[in-house]
Amino acid sequence: IKKTEPIPVALYGGRHAVTMLPGGGIGPELMSYVREVFKYAGAPVDFEVIDIDPSDESIDYALTSIKRNGVAIKGNIETKSENTEIISRNVAIRNELDLYINIVHCKSFPGVHARQSNIDLMIIRQNTEGEYAMLEHESVYGVIESMKVVTESNSERVARYAFEFAKRNGRKKVTTIHKANIMKLSDGLFLDTSKRIALEYPEIEHNDMIIDNCCMQLVSNPHQFDVMMMTNLYGSIVSNVACGLIGGAGLLSGRNYGDHYAIFEPGTRNTGTAIAGKNIANPVAMLSASVDMLEHLGHQQHATLIRRAIEKTICEDRIHTSDLGGTAKSTDVVQKVIDHILESDIRP
Ligand code: ADP
Ligand code: MG
Repeated sequence: IKKTEPIPVALYGGRHAVTMLPGGGIGPELMSYVREVFKYAGAPVDFEVIDIDPSDESIDYALTSIKRNGVAIKGNIETKSENTEIISRNVAIRNELDLYINIVHCKSFPGVHARQSNIDLMIIRQNTEGEYAMLEHESVYGVIESMKVVTESNSERVARYAFEFAKRNGRKKVTTIHKANIMKLSDGLFLDTSKRIALEYPEIEHNDMIIDNCCMQLVSNPHQFDVMMMTNLYGSIVSNVACGLIGGAGLLSGRNYGDHYAIFEPGTRNTGTAIAGKNIANPVAMLSASVDMLEHLGHQQHATLIRRAIEKTICEDRIHTSDLGGTAKSTDVVQKVIDHILESDIRP
């Protein structure tokens, strides 16, 4: 079996070096919480912090650093949408590192007031092509063409990842989300490829659903889903719907994988410009991303220590920021997480 998760490379004396890209908006404050929590948990990770200025070459430093370290944690880098010359740095990083998979594990937090409860679904998304091919042009005045690129090789990598993931994690069903009734060639290829790969996994149920119906079903009956796989833009929309169902943008983490590198970030990839610097952003999504990163690096004990501290703070103490209907400041949540870490009897 081909190894589908990348191998971290930078390990010095038992400590990992990890690239940290704080990004804009709430990114820098969320990263300061990660560093604070890692300090108290004794997590053996050294961060190489790189601030990306969208107007210069700092993206090259970031890419070199990630290629050296193998692993990064990242906030969202804002792209000014008015300037059509500047492409999204976020997309550029994912493409350059060939991070062809994005995963958001959408799992309810008991104790968080949300539209749906007991949700536990995996959203697996093609992360480098589709509607994000960034091939747009004005063919004649007033007519814009935008190319959606779907390749058999990337569709196959996503399908294989989804079924392997289901197999290894005891999941029962994979659903391919598409619009092959309209985009017969592009989404048709994605769907057909997933059906072909599904034949290799007879023990796992496979079905498919049109993206519009999927959005309705997610809101009304999300418990029918287990592992979901889809192309890039649908993945962005569906993971935002799913995050909204269980408590919003501040809770869930997302993982980006290729064969060589991995990047961890909040699941909905928001910049949070309007709430930056006010001590009100929910720190949980980025802290969860840092826990995913520790697991990826093989620091399972430290990961469990921090994850349990987050769960106690959110599910038992119910120290909630305003996005979850609470009155706590970001730093109140972080302080409680640190208190639980210091009290824990599983500290490594
Ligand atoms: P984008 O960067 O995609 O434009 P925004 O920054 O506008 O997205 O975020 C979308 C919404 O999610 C906003 O209402 C923002 O306040 C909220 N949000 C994003 N991240 C968090 C967070 N960590 N805590 C609380 N609210 C958040
Ligand atoms: Mg914004």
